Amino acid sequence: MQHRAADILVAGGGPAGATIARLLALRGRQVVLVDPGTRRTERLEIIAPAACRVAEAVGIAHLLYDASLSWPCSGIRRRWGTAEIELDDFLRRPGGKGYVIDRAPFDDALRAMAMDVAVERIAGRVVAARREGGAVVVGVQSGAQRISIAAALVIDATGRPSAVARRMGARRLPSERLVAERQPVDVLRAPDRETPWLDVDGAHNAWSYQVSGPNGRCEAWTVYRPGDRPGRPQSCADASSSLLSRAAGDGWIAIGDAAASFDPVTSQGLVNALSTALVAAGAILSSDGLDDNARGIYADAVAATFHHAEAGRARVYAGLAPPR
Ligand SMILES: Cc1cc2nc3c(=O)[nH]c(=O)nc-3n(C[C@H](O)[C@H](O)[C@H](O)COP(=O)(O)OP(=O)(O)OC[C@H]3O[C@@H](n4cnc5c(N)ncnc54)[C@H](O)[C@@H]3O)c2cc1C
Repeated sequence: MQHRAADILVAGGGPAGATIARLLALRGRQVVLVDPGTRRTERLEIIAPAACRVAEAVGIAHLLYDASLSWPCSGIRRRWGTAEIELDDFLRRPGGKGYVIDRAPFDDALRAMAMDVAVERIAGRVVAARREGGAVVVGVQSGAQRISIAAALVIDATGRPSAVARRMGARRLPSERLVAERQPVDVLRAPDRETPWLDVDGAHNAWSYQVSGPNGRCEAWTVYRPGDRPGRPQSCADASSSLLSRAAGDGWIAIGDAAASFDPVTSQGLVNALSTALVAAGAILSSDGLDDNARGIYADAVAATFHHAEAGRARVYAGLAPPR
């Protein structure tokens, strides 16, 4: 076992982790980023107009103008079991612009930006975490090697596993368990690349979407409750909406999906990943640091955002036929 120390350890190098690691390193903090780097998120996702504002604030807006990573998106067209189409036109939202991003190269670009400002990267997985003295001691499995890192602060950006927070005593509180299953693309309905809309169809306790994006990609997903369909899905992702019982504690803070994860119908995940990274970095860099008060305010804000998104989700599903 190798032992070492770090000022700040960020666990997880997705959009939330790579962003906060870069923001803190830019302000002179010594940051170690731990991520296995073995599983990329191979998916097209929507950056809604609200997320574009946050992308500017965290200094990554230029990635949205890179055609190899990102493609303009006009909005969302929903068909909830009727012929009538409900349009969520991004032009009508503050900011007026949205994008479809190719997550794998987008995440690679975010991590490269973090490395450029001297974030140290360890290819490994957090497998233990405990409070010891004035530090949080994190066990990292890196290949055959086990590393023990004592950090003054640990940031949990491990996504839905909440790998640090759960070991520090927090619990994930699911609001609704959902699965997203990749579907063959219906080429007849492949969205027009000139006006790419995300097309959503709802029917029989499930909803599906189809979208096209950069690099000629076009994909379709169906989202449903695991008990609603027989058999094991082939290619699927956890799409549950759930909240961490508390988003911060003594020596640690959770950001992005590790703090709260959202049903994809809300298009809330990426804006939450970037905004929690920004807010947490601000608290950490403030003169009082991440004290008791800051942790309480942050955790309350995460919970309020989650409950607000849940209310919006209920309104969207109210239109789904037949009634759930
Ligand atoms: C089907 C589907 C469609 C979606 N569509 C959209 C959309 O259109 N728009 C939108 O805004 N959001 C969407 N989302 C949500 C979005 O994917 C997430 O909100 C986003 O990935 C959160 O980023 P993150 O950095 O918090 O977590 P993640 O992207 O999950 O990154 C977590 C990182 O932590 C690493 N990790 C995990 N465990 C450990 C460990 N023990 N130690 C170290 N590292 C670890 C992982 O390898 C990963 O690199 C969708 C989600 C799903 C499932």
